[in-house]
Amino acid sequence: MSRFRSLRWRLTFLYLGLLAVLLIAAGVAQYFAAREVLFRSNADVLVSEYNAVFNAFRKQNASRPASALRAIILSQTFADELRSRRTSAAIVEPNGGLIAYAPANLATSQDPPSLTTQEYRSAASNHPMAYYIATAADGSTSLVVLNVIRNGAKPIALAQLSIATDDIDRTLSLDRDVAVIGSVSVLLLALLLSPLIIGRALRPLKQMSDTAGKLAAGDYKQRVTVPKASDEIGTLAVAFNQMAAGIDHAFEVRRRSEEQMRHFVADASHELRTPLTSIAGYIDVLGRRDVVDAETLQTSLAAMQQESARMTRLVNDLLTLTRFESGKPTTRRPVMLDQFVNQALDELSLTDKGAVESRDLQPGVTVTADPEALKQVVSNLAQNALKYAPGAEQHWSVFQEDGRAAIRLQDTGPGISRQDLPHIFERFYRGEKARDRSMGGSGLGLAIARSIVEAHQGTIEAASEPGKGATFTAWLPLAA
Ligand code: ADP
Repeated sequence: MSRFRSLRWRLTFLYLGLLAVLLIAAGVAQYFAAREVLFRSNADVLVSEYNAVFNAFRKQNASRPASALRAIILSQTFADELRSRRTSAAIVEPNGGLIAYAPANLATSQDPPSLTTQEYRSAASNHPMAYYIATAADGSTSLVVLNVIRNGAKPIALAQLSIATDDIDRTLSLDRDVAVIGSVSVLLLALLLSPLIIGRALRPLKQMSDTAGKLAAGDYKQRVTVPKASDEIGTLAVAFNQMAAGIDHAFEVRRRSEEQMRHFVADASHELRTPLTSIAGYIDVLGRRDVVDAETLQTSLAAMQQESARMTRLVNDLLTLTRFESGKPTTRRPVMLDQFVNQALDELSLTDKGAVESRDLQPGVTVTADPEALKQVVSNLAQNALKYAPGAEQHWSVFQEDGRAAIRLQDTGPGISRQDLPHIFERFYRGEKARDRSMGGSGLGLAIARSIVEAHQGTIEAASEPGKGATFTAWLPLAA
């Protein structure tokens, strides 16, 4: 990127261009305003000069008859009276014809400045303008005022007073020079300062692009410092940081889920390898013998069958787990929980398996659920209680609370230790006592129950006071 195409320089040039245009416009307006003021004030002076002379002249000649006074006014005498060091005076007929002319002491040209016939006529018949500008043959200009001399109401002549505009022009050109020098200095100063100021204002953007580069390179902890001013750049910085946090979070989630996946695959492989190793062992033993007695064959086959059943269970559990964890929509229909749990428990016939069972099922609690899946939740909880709280009481309840439906199992078994409690819903997690293989669990029962409940937008929780039993509650949204 060429240096001057950066935003900083583009803004600087834009700003300077705008400033230059404004300065020129202001300078031109100021020049014309000053010129008008100067011309008008000089014209006012000329008019009052004229009035003073005219009044004094009339007073002096008050004794003369009117016709004689008029004759003097329309003569060189009056023109001489009107002129001064810098003022030229002329008496002009209403149609512009020159009657008398008295140049100022300082006059450079000996010719009277002359306006157009049209201008003289119009001044005599209407009203003279505040001032006129007359240009002489040599190019010098004069400021001219016209005063109408009347006989009664009738204009008989015009008294023309004029001064050279040199003085005014000098003042104006000085004024203009000051303005030009001032403007150029302002522009130079702006050229020096604005890249600094704009650069400073844009610094957060630079930081953002650096930070974005680092984010892209994988450093998701990078953030930008939010400027104190809550302007657009501040807002952008806040949004940028939110985006960075979002990316950071997304990658963290992905990293964690990848890690969980790795663990899951490792655990699953490990669990599957155990029965496989066992089966391979029996085959090896049988294969090495030439003759196998019936008894050995029977026990070996029975053991292999057990191991393969265990493997089948495990594979089925894994399938169920992945099905619900991938959030596949279940075939749902309204389920009346009291009837449903009643039936599910009847089918499990827990009493036959040594449990003391009681039920408190509130009627009228309906959820929208996949009944087969929900049955598995009930079954997994019941099987666990049979395994870990053998012979204990299982109290089942169905109720509604805070706009949610609940299925709860309370047992009076040994409960869950404080160390195990936070982990029991994790895949392949087995409590301390359950690690002994004789219990037969693979640590997937509660993970499956959780994935099913969560696929129904519900939650499942466990509470336990060691020694006093465990309580499991599955919370489900009520049917709409
Ligand atoms: P598994 O039963 O295959 O070990 P689960 O996921 O079903 O796996 O259970 C996880 C752990 O939770 C069990 O190993 C056990 O320690 C504990 N647990 C589950 N239910 C109960 C219960 N009713 N009483 C005591 N401990 C339990």
